[in-house]
Amino acid sequence: MTDAHLRHRFHRRSLDQQRPLSTVIMGFTAVASLLFVLARGLVAGPAVSLPYRLACIVCLALLVAGVRNARTTWWFGACGVAYTLVLVVVIALNIAGLEQPLLWALPALLVIPVCSAPLWLTPTHFLAGTAVFYAAGMPLLFRQPQVHDVNVVAWLWVAIGVPAAVVFHLSFYWFRRDHFLLENRLAQLAATDPLTGLQNRRAFMEQAERRLGALDKEAKVCAIFVDIDYFKSLNDQFGHAVGDQTLYEVAQVLMDQTVAQDSVSRIGGEEFAVLRRDGLASALELAERLRGAISCIARPDGYVTASFGVAEHRAGESIMALLDRADEALLRAKQSGRNRVCAERAIPFDALQLLGLGDPSDPSGNARPRWEDYYLTSHFQPLYSLSHQKQVGFEALLRGEQSDGSLVPPAVLFAPRPLSDEGALDRASHAVHLANAQRLIPDEAWVFLNILPATFVAEGYADQLAGIVRSAGLEPDKIVLEILESHGGSVDEMSRAAARYREHGFLIAVDDFGAGQSNLDRLFRIRPDFVKLDGELIRATIPGTQQSILPKLVSLLHQAGMLVVVEGVETTEELILAVESNVDFAQGFLLGRPAAEIAPPDSVNRLIDRSFDVIAQGRAHLHALFESEVEPYRFALRNAADALLAGVPMDNAFADLAQQDLCISCFILDDRGRQIGPEVTGVAGANLGDSLEPVADPRDARWDHRPYFRNAVLLPGVPVASSPYLSLASGRPCIAVTVAIQSPEMRSVVGTELDWSSPHLPWPASE
Ligand code: GH3
Ligand code: MG
Ligand code: MG
Repeated sequence: MTDAHLRHRFHRRSLDQQRPLSTVIMGFTAVASLLFVLARGLVAGPAVSLPYRLACIVCLALLVAGVRNARTTWWFGACGVAYTLVLVVVIALNIAGLEQPLLWALPALLVIPVCSAPLWLTPTHFLAGTAVFYAAGMPLLFRQPQVHDVNVVAWLWVAIGVPAAVVFHLSFYWFRRDHFLLENRLAQLAATDPLTGLQNRRAFMEQAERRLGALDKEAKVCAIFVDIDYFKSLNDQFGHAVGDQTLYEVAQVLMDQTVAQDSVSRIGGEEFAVLRRDGLASALELAERLRGAISCIARPDGYVTASFGVAEHRAGESIMALLDRADEALLRAKQSGRNRVCAERAIPFDALQLLGLGDPSDPSGNARPRWEDYYLTSHFQPLYSLSHQKQVGFEALLRGEQSDGSLVPPAVLFAPRPLSDEGALDRASHAVHLANAQRLIPDEAWVFLNILPATFVAEGYADQLAGIVRSAGLEPDKIVLEILESHGGSVDEMSRAAARYREHGFLIAVDDFGAGQSNLDRLFRIRPDFVKLDGELIRATIPGTQQSILPKLVSLLHQAGMLVVVEGVETTEELILAVESNVDFAQGFLLGRPAAEIAPPDSVNRLIDRSFDVIAQGRAHLHALFESEVEPYRFALRNAADALLAGVPMDNAFADLAQQDLCISCFILDDRGRQIGPEVTGVAGANLGDSLEPVADPRDARWDHRPYFRNAVLLPGVPVASSPYLSLASGRPCIAVTVAIQSPEMRSVVGTELDWSSPHLPWPASE
């Protein structure tokens, strides 16, 4: 047995095996010595004082206790050596004063070294103990009265005792050693996978259970589960020998890349496991290294690859549970394309703990907790108040980052998870955003947080979120909850939930109005503070015209008490349209992309300012165009009014006006807005179909509520032009030019309706 480690293990094992036998035999000798001491009292002759001899017996008893509790082989041997010495002393004290002392001493001196020989754990202990025994025994013999030839006795004693003891000790020692080596070999065979030489599953599990059981609180352990990709095809196409060779090579890679403290095992078939005493980041790194090294092993049709699942041990968890979690990660690695490393799903982190705890590995100090195989972090996109031309809020957007900083595609980040609660990521995102907003967002700005309807209506979440917001050093009145456009939560539930959030001071926005589920009923029931309009609405126009629907929609929402945000502003034209439509806030790539840091607003301020200039110029230009278009009709109308006042019949008075291109009809209304007499059809009116038949005859109606009537009455004698409106009679966009006149009999309003449906006609901005 050359290996010192093996020899040490053998001696340790001998200690455990021999301790009971040694204790019993030494105890027996101590009792025999006591009897010997007592028997001496029956024999005549002056004896050494009894207490001395009894003290020796007490020493023997203490040494028996020492052997029984010996922790090391060295201590075991030392107790043995001391024991032999005390035995010699007991014999010497007991035979003093006897007539024939050797008769009493010799049997003990002969029997003790021979009988105790097998009990010595190692040859060194044996040699030391036996040498001490004979060295002490020899003077004892020679000090006795020379009744016999002591030389001969001594020689006989040594000649018989020593060889017998040596033979007994060595043969028993060798017997024990061979037994140990055999047992060792069998244990090794039972624990090893014959093909790869790695630990087999059973040995791995036993060892791992032991290691996990002995862990202290702070210690970290990770399991890496490895499964070779497409291994069956290797066997099927090229035979089992090639498969076996690959298994062997993969095992070699695992051995080469790990250290002695790692447990590496072939768990079964083409699956391996590694247990490493380290944190997740280090285990992921090792797994990545193993993946790289395995992908260099050639197979007849290319290269071998393997998939990896990594999980970190949680306090009190069994090895089976740990491997199950690593296996779940491995399954995801297989499902997402193989030849990759996936980490276990993250434990839902404690939102409160996250606040103020930026990831120390992230140089920016941003909160960046781990989530599945990547890290969550926030990007913020600015919202500008168009009138104030400044950043007033930031929408927090969730991003997934790999450890190298590359972004996880949104399709992966927001992919539905069959095993997890769909709101978990939503809630986690709020904690991450608030932790980051605390550091990045200026005090006076709003933070817009997206929230799924299902999370929004969840029981108790309003209180919980308010707690998180305050722990982040923010106030709920700085947080705008942006209810996402998706399923989950009825309108009733949402309006009740909105009241709960409002109690805490949160502001509420409805996202993406104009897309998917959105409708006015939902909006008016939730009564959000902000409505975010879907970017598409900026570009939407009233069918058949080039008129944007935005101004009207914004005006409606304003009347309902909601502030309006347009998203997706990408071009200057869209920004101009937003400003022109009286939108309150705008957001989009033109104004600022989502980013991890907040960009200064200077250049954007100039951009918005220029849009205001453009609009002011555009308004003046449009107004001038409109006036020049309407002027001939004002002129003709004034003439017609004068003719009517002079008593000219209606048909003649309106003749000129009716001949002009856009004229649909000419009419006279009394001072209550009812039409007097028939209307005179104009050129444009003659070509119209009867699309709105039931309301086609204006004589049934009263028109004094129309702006064109009211405005004319306000400025008697001055022809006024209305903004474009939808004519009930024709179903087309029209404008009216009207003038109020006073005849001796009555006051009336004379007017004409002009066809304003041609896209080339200017539409002045309506207030
Ligand atoms: P995946 O990429 O999904 O892991 O597919 P796979 O083909 O690697 O996995 P599958 O579990 O279908 O096949 C494992 C194969 O491993 C089936 C079995 O024949 C083979 N196998 C198991 N033990 C041994 C072995 O000791 N030697 C050889 N040559 N093949 C083995
Ligand atoms: Mg498999
Ligand atoms: Mg496989």
